[in-house]
Amino acid sequence: MSEHTDSAIVVGASIGGLLAARVLSVTHARVTVVERDVLADGAVHRRGVPQSRHAHGLLARGREALEELFPGLTAELTALGVPAADLQSGFRWVNAGRLLCQAPSGLVGLGVSRALLESRVRARVRALLGVGIADGCAATGLAVSADGRRVTGLRVVRAGGAAEVLGADLVVDATGRGSRAPSWLESLGYPAPEVDEVPIGLAYASRAYRRDASGPDGAAIAGTPADPRGGVMIAQEDDRWIVSVGGILGDAAPLDHAGFTAFTATLPSPLIHEVVRDAEPLGDAVRFRFPASSRRRYERLGRFPEGFLVMGDAVASFDPVYGQGMSVAAVEALALRRCLDRGTEDLAHRFFRAAATVIDSPWRIAVGGDLRFPGVPGPRTRSVRAVNAYLERLHVAAEHDPAVGRAFLRVVSLLDPPQRLFAPGTALRVMRGTRSAALTGGSPVRHAAPALPGTGGAR
Ligand SMILES: Cc1cc2nc3c(=O)[nH]c(=O)nc-3n(C[C@H](O)[C@H](O)[C@H](O)COP(=O)(O)OP(=O)(O)OC[C@H]3O[C@@H](n4cnc5c(N)ncnc54)[C@H](O)[C@@H]3O)c2cc1C
Repeated sequence: MSEHTDSAIVVGASIGGLLAARVLSVTHARVTVVERDVLADGAVHRRGVPQSRHAHGLLARGREALEELFPGLTAELTALGVPAADLQSGFRWVNAGRLLCQAPSGLVGLGVSRALLESRVRARVRALLGVGIADGCAATGLAVSADGRRVTGLRVVRAGGAAEVLGADLVVDATGRGSRAPSWLESLGYPAPEVDEVPIGLAYASRAYRRDASGPDGAAIAGTPADPRGGVMIAQEDDRWIVSVGGILGDAAPLDHAGFTAFTATLPSPLIHEVVRDAEPLGDAVRFRFPASSRRRYERLGRFPEGFLVMGDAVASFDPVYGQGMSVAAVEALALRRCLDRGTEDLAHRFFRAAATVIDSPWRIAVGGDLRFPGVPGPRTRSVRAVNAYLERLHVAAEHDPAVGRAFLRVVSLLDPPQRLFAPGTALRVMRGTRSAALTGGSPVRHAAPALPGTGGAR
């Protein structure tokens, strides 16, 4: 085992791992990011992050958190042609069949491709003092102290097949939804976390298109129980659209040109179809299957080894309907920084509790929403049903009331907790909005796409 003093290892050089490394670079003299893929320079898709070929955008809180960790990143990205859009006036959101009222909100998101974002963040991390990235190196398990109470390092296998143990005071698992941490823990005599799982059977198909710069910034169209197909279309760098469409319970969009285009016409709004129909495709469509949202409840474990943490999708990976995963990882990284400010005593319990608070909100909104679909198995508690019923009314009000729309987008963007939607001021507006919609007989309609530029969306 190599010598170590005050060193940390992060497993996974994707968004979660890179942000953890940034935070640890302040508290640990040496940080090694261990990545199974061999990393190429630049913005390229790679095997370990198959979702990068599908629509990704960065919500307001995620952008702010990244900016806090890497000052100037937003300007760096926009200089590379990444569109920065007001999430309410620029981007179009269709929820419950209703187009959210457009108005300036001050919530700025980025239409940055996953590959470009990761490559710029990786370059920033590589430049940090004391941080190194060991790529082509797969983690296989944890090394522990003789009494088994403390993690002392990481077992790895290098690309050539050589196995070794890298010593560290702290190991952070950021290996995504396929994380082996539960079985690593069990093999050391620790309990694995309970798992909350909602099988949704999402099947995405995605394709890039050339974008006329005068076109919209994007659109997110959420499926409804009556019309479960959805899609997202995001304006990205290099004057291109990334369009992802899909259904639940295995309802997959065809990958061929005619089939894909026809599928976009079946979404609850024509916003995406009207772009795809006329735009020039850039390459073939690709598929991604997302069987279930899952959340590992590390915060509930009584026994956990010292010197080990898990974060990002490795803890919770949920329906990307609102594109929140990278923002969650970024806010978790800030939570880790706050926990480390108070030292390493009881770090795991403190961090997992903080991470659970970050995850609660997007989980309730995205995964609670999945339970609206009758075929999706899962417990429809009274609170899930009440929240969904309220949100249904909120989307009616948000069609005409920009303040209600903004309140919703602040929650989706992780800037406010969901409880804020029930605050008296918003609840009153929701009540008034639904009453006036009832008076005018306003039921969801397949509205025509507005003539002016807009943006893209999700299932
Ligand atoms: C279709 C789709 C669309 C999405 N859209 C959005 C969006 O618009 N906005 C948004 O914010 N989020 C979105 N997300 C979520 C987002 O992709 C994830 O939340 C985010 O990538 C989480 O990053 P992570 O670092 O935790 O894990 P991952 O990105 O999964 O990375 C895991 C890393 O660990 C490495 N690794 C795995 N095993 C090992 C091992 N044994 N040893 C060493 N390395 C290993 C992998 O190679 C990889 O680099 C979307 C997800 C999907 C599926």
